[in-house]
Amino acid sequence: TVETAPATPLTWRPPAGALWSGRWVDGASTMPVHDPEDGRLLGHVTDTSPAEVDEAVTGVAAAVASGASWPAWRRREALEEAAGLVLRHRERLAEVISREGCKTLREANGEVSRAAETLRLSAQQTHRLTGETLPFSDTSRGEGRLGWYTREPVGVVAAITPFNDPLNLVAHKVGPALAGGNGVVLKPAEATPLTALAFAEILLDAGVPAGRIAVVPGTGGGAGHALVSHPLVDLVSFTGGHRTGNAVAGAAGAKKTLMELGGNNAVLVLDDADTRAAAQAVVAGAFGVAGQNCLSVQRVFVAARVFAPLLRDVLSATEKLRVGSKADLRTDIGPLISEREARRVEEWVREAREGGAVVRAGGRRDGTFYWPTVLTDVPADAKVMTEEIFGPVLVVEPVATVDEAVARANDTRYGLQAGVFTTSLDTALDIAERLRVGAVMINDSSDFRIDAMPFGGPKRSGVGREGVRYAVEAMTEPKVVAVRRG
Ligand code: NAD
Repeated sequence: TVETAPATPLTWRPPAGALWSGRWVDGASTMPVHDPEDGRLLGHVTDTSPAEVDEAVTGVAAAVASGASWPAWRRREALEEAAGLVLRHRERLAEVISREGCKTLREANGEVSRAAETLRLSAQQTHRLTGETLPFSDTSRGEGRLGWYTREPVGVVAAITPFNDPLNLVAHKVGPALAGGNGVVLKPAEATPLTALAFAEILLDAGVPAGRIAVVPGTGGGAGHALVSHPLVDLVSFTGGHRTGNAVAGAAGAKKTLMELGGNNAVLVLDDADTRAAAQAVVAGAFGVAGQNCLSVQRVFVAARVFAPLLRDVLSATEKLRVGSKADLRTDIGPLISEREARRVEEWVREAREGGAVVRAGGRRDGTFYWPTVLTDVPADAKVMTEEIFGPVLVVEPVATVDEAVARANDTRYGLQAGVFTTSLDTALDIAERLRVGAVMINDSSDFRIDAMPFGGPKRSGVGREGVRYAVEAMTEPKVVAVRRG
């Protein structure tokens, strides 16, 4: 049964509905923010209009262009301070993340720690903004010259973020952008703008210069489109769905872009694997944040010999999961972000079922809650197999050979991450080579990441790589200086 949260208001409120280059303001229009669990109103933020986005971007661009010195050591200090403040305000941040988003309070707490780590890693990257001397005398034309390159900020970074990690995915863009010496204008997801505003308040308290940051809550087609198409934006860093990514790329034109898009991640369980450990990892990886995670396990391909024990362990772990209120520390699975999304997941399961899929666990919806669901016998062309489900649905299928497992894992237009369970190192490394993904986790599920990894994947999963160090590289550019000697 679904337990509903007690009707308590949020303990933290943003100073205003938007932040334009350091100025807290309420724009002309507002939009409500609801708790997806019970639909309760949590507050209002500005529904930023294109003209207001223009004001915010122009302000940040002016601050960046003014040449006001914000040297690397000060950036490091501010980011380190922000990491400390995030931890100090853990409780109120976790509350906002959990109430406006889908995470249980327990999961939200974990995200606060991750965000502090992201900021610390960003602070460390200020040490790495180095260049090198260039070998001018290697060519006859270069002889007599001395030169080097340094790394310069790109300028104004537009950050567009999704709802599922309202704090850490924002930190993943804002941290590296600031570490690199840029200004940043953030358009958070419609559903989760309060966390972004709370985070911006912390950044200002930590000493980030007011002009360097703006937050423009609003819709994708309104504030989001106005931001990515703004001529003063130098780089667009987007995380979200593939279809939105296409629209953003179209509007961004020839601007620099970084895109972290979706996944349809597979785990391979071979016949020599520890099936109990594999089942535990798969269930945790499939159903955390009710499957609303780009790394979540969606498909499991299991050697036929161990299919029965693996499925048994997966089902018994799934049935132990508690669906309920996010605020209850015993809850494992909270709601989906909206009833529309929950109905979509229900519809995709129905489609698979009509094609012959067997529902082994779950398959039930109540409002925004969808029960953790395990399917077998799923037709190869069902959406739950081919598209990104972004909900608590796991497909488990037997395979006859390792080659078949690899081929089926690769049989998707996405390529974010994968997991492989085997005790043979040779086989694991061979499979890792053959999977077309950005990262392979051996003896773990696809759902593992540290923020120092290059993060992203081939195919539809995105453009470029995030992960703090790699994002800082992408958000800075080499600049050459050469001296012609007399
Ligand atoms: P979404 O694509 O619906 O929205 C993402 C953001 O884009 C939101 O802020 C939205 O307002 C904005 N947006 C929408 N239309 C826009 C437009 N035309 N111009 C500019 N901005 C626009 O995604 P979502 O539902 O919030 O998040 C789920 C998706 O995000 C999933 O596909 C998931 O895989 C992906 N995701 C990827 C990663 C990753 O790192 N690869 C991480 C988390 C989520």
